Amino acid sequence: MPERLFVCTPSKLGAYADCPRRYRYSYVDRPTPPKGPPWAHNSLGASVHTALKNWYALPLDRRVPGSLPTLLKATWVREGYRDVDQERVTYQQALRWLESYVATLDPQEEPLGVERVVATKTAVLAFNGRADRIDSRVGDEGAEAVIVDYKTGRSGLGADDARGSQALALYAYAAQRVFRRPCHRVELHHLPTGTVVVHEHTEESLARQVRRAEDTARDIMAAEKAVAAGADPDAEFPTNPGSLCSWCDFRKTCPAGLEAPAKEPWTSVEHLGSS
Ligand code: SF4
Repeated sequence: MPERLFVCTPSKLGAYADCPRRYRYSYVDRPTPPKGPPWAHNSLGASVHTALKNWYALPLDRRVPGSLPTLLKATWVREGYRDVDQERVTYQQALRWLESYVATLDPQEEPLGVERVVATKTAVLAFNGRADRIDSRVGDEGAEAVIVDYKTGRSGLGADDARGSQALALYAYAAQRVFRRPCHRVELHHLPTGTVVVHEHTEESLARQVRRAEDTARDIMAAEKAVAAGADPDAEFPTNPGSLCSWCDFRKTCPAGLEAPAKEPWTSVEHLGSS
């Protein structure tokens, strides 16, 4: 019998690569262990992403900065903030990011996809993922698709972030197949700094990322199989303690997480009040 394909998203693969134990808590253990409270930075990211998605749903004549307050208000996620004042300051900052960002966009340009799910299969994976935006551009080889991923985190981005991102590479690999056109260019758009970090993949570098994803999938399937056969789940899905633990939803469930310093749900947006 052929092996079953491993159904996955970039975040599923990324969870295991970051920490096998976190993968287990998220995708294997049922019922799912209790998570910590929602994070303000996730609320901020989701609000900005949805506002940009809805920007492209506007008719062309309404794609103007004046539409942004309504868009952002409608999509604003309130969870995780310390208080209403902090939420208000963060909202104003997010609005400024959006105003600067849309000033760089051509309102006439229609992307190939906005929050578009792309899916494809390999010998091991049944991959699907939702790309923030897939642009249609003209490159050296004619019409091509370009993967665009929005970032709202505190830290700036470097070239390695685009080059090393498995998620972006898998989106590009899948987009080539879905849209039947080349897709080698991946871009991270960091709204807080207005930085765009670009990487041009080759067929070889995309294939390399797919092989890495397949290796991760094989490791996950082997661990799941072993647990189903009676192996110790803690041994098959070990902890990977590090700086991520303080931000992990399962910090209070995980023995390694309990050792990590706790963060407030709003820690990561505190600096916005002083900028
Ligand atoms: S707290 Fe740390 S070690 Fe534990 S699951 Fe989360 S990331 Fe992994």
